[in-house]
Amino acid sequence: MTTRDRVRGAIYGHLVGDALGVPYEFTHDIETVEWRGNGTHNQPAGTWSDDGALMLALLDSLLDAGFDTADQARRFLDWRDHRKYTPDRDGRFDIGGATSQALARVADGVPAEEAGDDPDALGNGSLMRILPIALVDPSASTAELVDRAHRSSRITHGAPACLVACALYVLITRELLAGGQDRSSALARSSELLRAEYQGQSELVTALDNLLAWPTREGRGHVSDSFWSAWDAFEASDGYRSAVVRAVQYGNDTDTTAAIAGGLAGTYWGLDSIPGPWLNGLRGKEVVDRLLDRLVRRLDPNREPRLPAMDPDFTFSMSDLDAMEDHAEWHRIRRPRRSG
Ligand SMILES: [Mg+2]
Repeated sequence: MTTRDRVRGAIYGHLVGDALGVPYEFTHDIETVEWRGNGTHNQPAGTWSDDGALMLALLDSLLDAGFDTADQARRFLDWRDHRKYTPDRDGRFDIGGATSQALARVADGVPAEEAGDDPDALGNGSLMRILPIALVDPSASTAELVDRAHRSSRITHGAPACLVACALYVLITRELLAGGQDRSSALARSSELLRAEYQGQSELVTALDNLLAWPTREGRGHVSDSFWSAWDAFEASDGYRSAVVRAVQYGNDTDTTAAIAGGLAGTYWGLDSIPGPWLNGLRGKEVVDRLLDRLVRRLDPNREPRLPAMDPDFTFSMSDLDAMEDHAEWHRIRRPRRSG
């Protein structure tokens, strides 16, 4: 399986999981999970919710602006105020309490990374959107990925429990994206890397210990319960379908548990593991494909490399020279097609 299959699987796995869970949100004792409409939010089948929209908003920001939390927060407001990143502009029927309050603070001019500073906001509202941090720049260092996961979470959820869950999810996704590793090893290795990263930061070490020892899996909105419900649904399953069905069957925050589990399952088993009727039945695919095509092009080693800046004081490093050569190669390969 190629990285491209896994990246497409990640994004669509998250969105399809969200849409599968939307009709069941806040319900209990779910025996049969079907791809259907109506239900809790009375939406047509295949409609993703806030989880999918905010994940796509983050992806769009990372592709356009690099890592810039002010830009991320602006795009979250585009979703809140203008229904951007939704299927047919009607996927803004659900918003979490902490996210709503934090985005109001952003709109009032509070800096993005200070907006989510309520220490009692322990929900899964940042975990449900954090996936693209692991996808756009998989060669980033562990320190960079952890820092980006934390800072992006802080826009709405700055409590250590939320930061740590986001960082762990991003590191696990990076492991799954690389392939060649079983699920429990990916979890163990990511936990070890994160613990090493947190050395000397006792608040974060404690939060990681608490997360790793968390006892419940009830599909709830609490970030730690949500993380483990999604993980267990993924780890106990033999394919994408059973992972997201299990995630929904916990009840409660069904769409978010299934989105988080679906991102992991789609990364692990790839795009082709998602049942065709669900993928075909997802609304708003034109919104997704515009972003996904850019993401996949960015990961393609044959894409046009960026030229180093040309200023009078410019001095070359070896990596600049490599970039120049790649650039020349790119034009040489493509020129005949363009003139023909
Ligand atoms: Mg939702």
